[in-house]
Amino acid sequence: MKTLVFLEHHGQAISKASLGVLSKAAGLGGETAAILAGADLAGLAAQAGSFGAGTVFLAEDPRLAAALPQPRVDVLAGLVAGEAFDTVLFAQSVLATDLAAALAVRLDAGLNWDLVDLELREGTLVGRRPALSDSVRIDVGWSSPVRLALFRAGAFDPVESDARAELRELHVELDERSLRAELREAAAEEPSGPSIEDADVIVAGGRGLGGPEGFALLEELAEALGGAVAATRAVVDAGWYPYPTQVGQTGKTVSPRLYLAVGISGAIQHKVGMQGSGVIVAINKDPNAPIFEYADLGVVGDLNEIVPRLAALVRDARA
Ligand SMILES: Cc1cc2nc3c(=O)[nH]c(=O)nc-3n(C[C@H](O)[C@H](O)[C@H](O)COP(=O)(O)OP(=O)(O)OC[C@H]3O[C@@H](n4cnc5c(N)ncnc54)[C@H](O)[C@@H]3O)c2cc1C
Repeated sequence: MKTLVFLEHHGQAISKASLGVLSKAAGLGGETAAILAGADLAGLAAQAGSFGAGTVFLAEDPRLAAALPQPRVDVLAGLVAGEAFDTVLFAQSVLATDLAAALAVRLDAGLNWDLVDLELREGTLVGRRPALSDSVRIDVGWSSPVRLALFRAGAFDPVESDARAELRELHVELDERSLRAELREAAAEEPSGPSIEDADVIVAGGRGLGGPEGFALLEELAEALGGAVAATRAVVDAGWYPYPTQVGQTGKTVSPRLYLAVGISGAIQHKVGMQGSGVIVAINKDPNAPIFEYADLGVVGDLNEIVPRLAALVRDARA
């Protein structure tokens, strides 16, 4: 097996999700390489090298500055053919999804998406994918010589090691047609703490907060813990908190070390997005809430009393 992992980066940070995919690939054995494509990779190459890749390919070119898929398809298609990779893996994102789909067409390769796991069974590569509203997991495979896969963000944790990768600079050749799209403007949301994909601690809120103002309590607790605030679909649909923070089947998959579920009932569609968390703590006034069936620690009570006291205790402990 000869695997290439696409490492997505924004600014000078490689996405945690793609480093997780790289660590997973390295754990499967065979040859594992990674590719970084962009305009300024100087600070990124060393980061990429310590997550299991034997080789990190660097495609550095000003024409790759914008996060557009088409020029990257040229780079990856050339690399996959030139180095005879048989497996190409991506962490799901807007860019990676476009890129993987276009690469599948270019290479006439099979693409499985929305995977949450990957394993070798008696030499055969098998992907695991949730189905039937995430209530079961099914096996998927490939019949094409080159296999492409997209993984849900947060499916795997990055595992850092002392190993160092060989860095290889690529000569970037782009098709004229691939440069027709132009990025006119990019707007980034003002970061107010870590994103939920990268946070070690997530404080998530549900309808039990009673309204959008309830999230102020969670923001205070998240700040004390150095974490990020997330939400259920019920509150996102109600306009209480923004969609990028939604965890679950139609939101994001997260795997922080600590997940605090506050005023969340624990519906299956929410569970599938956070069940990979290290420790799950639930605060709910209903002792029969389903969240307690899979929480490691449960607190039965009114969140309006518990959360401010918890935030004060954390602040005192850290002072
Ligand atoms: C196709 C599909 C996709 C979906 N995708 C998602 C998804 O991605 N993510 C997601 O989250 N949901 C998703 N859902 C919705 C999901 O089924 C649930 O409706 C939703 O997760 C419930 O959100 P909630 O826990 O905030 O609200 P509720 O189920 O209303 O739970 C609120 C909880 O707060 C508790 N509570 C109330 N007051 C207090 C208080 N003062 N103190 C402490 N506890 C209190 C209650 O006891 C209750 O358990 C999806 C549904 C469908 C059909």
